[in-house]
Amino acid sequence: MSRRALLAGNWKMNGLRQDVRWLKVLAEAMPDFPVDIDIVLCPPATLIAQMAQECPDWLALGGQDCAAHAKGAYTGDISPVMLADLGCRYVIVGHSERRTGHAETDQKVCAKVEAARAAELIPIICVGESLEQREQGKAVSVITDQMIASLPGGMSAHAVVIAYEPVWAIGTGKTATPEDAQIMHQALRTAWPGEDGDALRLLYGGSVKPSNVFELMAQPDIDGALAGGASLEVKDFAALIRSLIVS
Ligand code: PEP
Repeated sequence: MSRRALLAGNWKMNGLRQDVRWLKVLAEAMPDFPVDIDIVLCPPATLIAQMAQECPDWLALGGQDCAAHAKGAYTGDISPVMLADLGCRYVIVGHSERRTGHAETDQKVCAKVEAARAAELIPIICVGESLEQREQGKAVSVITDQMIASLPGGMSAHAVVIAYEPVWAIGTGKTATPEDAQIMHQALRTAWPGEDGDALRLLYGGSVKPSNVFELMAQPDIDGALAGGASLEVKDFAALIRSLIVS
């Protein structure tokens, strides 16, 4: 089955209002051939409204996290309904920096995915093993368990994206080998609980760069990339777009 490639950029806690011009610079750097992939940018929440006004139609916006509720007494949280209201179409959920830094459990991630689905956002659910878990030979079971526990019942593979992000590769410059990443992505697809696993889009994340994305994308079960550091510089993000289009 052919799945549409997806490139997502996660700015994390980077970017001020002046950086919204990134959109204009990216548009100027875009390839002059058709862009038949999905491109998503997840800026900090503070920039979404401004970016939504200047966003070209080939770029979708996403949140970096959302609350598990539509509204209410949750000081400091941002609901998926609010993200959708700003024009977001996606939201990252369960990023390892949230799982570790904010004690997010699979159950919490699952509740956020449910809330995102109710708001008609496409959740990008992140899963990934630590170095210790990998060295103990538990990498596959850790990520497949995380995925299954993060999915509310009846989730369609068309309505979600899963990002495999080994924790030891995020922001470290270390990347899984393409062969190893393929084993992990294939395991996720096989473990998908529905019958529509062939339609599931699986991204690789963890120090993705223009120099390594092509080999990763050549793997049969890798459908795209989630890039942190490489999404901050237009030059690098545009190079990732080119690689995804031609791979
Ligand atoms: C991320 O933020 O999800 C990520 C993969 O970061 P980096 O590309 O910088 O490793």
